[in-house]
Amino acid sequence: MNEYINLSSLNDFCFCPYSIYLHNVYESTDKELFQAAPQVRGSLSHQSIDTKQASTQKEILLSLPVYSETYHIMGKIDLYDREKGALVERKYKLGQIYRGQLYQLWGQYLCLIEMNYEVTSLAFFEISTHKTIPIALPSSQDLVEFKQFIDRFLSYDPLTPLSTSINKCRHCIYCNLCDKTDEENVYT
Ligand code: SF4
Repeated sequence: MNEYINLSSLNDFCFCPYSIYLHNVYESTDKELFQAAPQVRGSLSHQSIDTKQASTQKEILLSLPVYSETYHIMGKIDLYDREKGALVERKYKLGQIYRGQLYQLWGQYLCLIEMNYEVTSLAFFEISTHKTIPIALPSSQDLVEFKQFIDRFLSYDPLTPLSTSINKCRHCIYCNLCDKTDEENVYT
């Protein structure tokens, strides 16, 4: 498989692999049909980064397109401070940091270093509380785990039997469109 995985879908794949399939199916439709409040708020909170309005300092790179041939991943970083070597991913709210969110940050890091940028620190920034949460650089064991995760993603077959929970489905934006559940979305 030669396709590149979008960094923004790593967390979704952890949440439920089938949601990636549904995302691809409904990608070209009006997002308002299925996007729930938390996703809309997340998109809005990224707008200043995506339109490169959050900083005028020249050492701060915003919304930089990145890719890694080694890991078959691509996407954009939120914020990279060239002077400090600091990579930051902003999230509106971070109750806890999920593995998929870590994978997203590790993926950004791996793309940057493959593109010859120096990265010495990683962090999440919680917009709702203005809190910075430092994250360790991935260890060699973390990189093995990440590679195995990417391989699972690349070889995913939507016909694979799913084991997901009612609670997950009810909080999934595709709930009302998904053929794997009869649950109702909590956002409707
Ligand atoms: S509704 Fe459930 S099974 Fe369907 S994509 Fe969402 S989490 Fe997965």
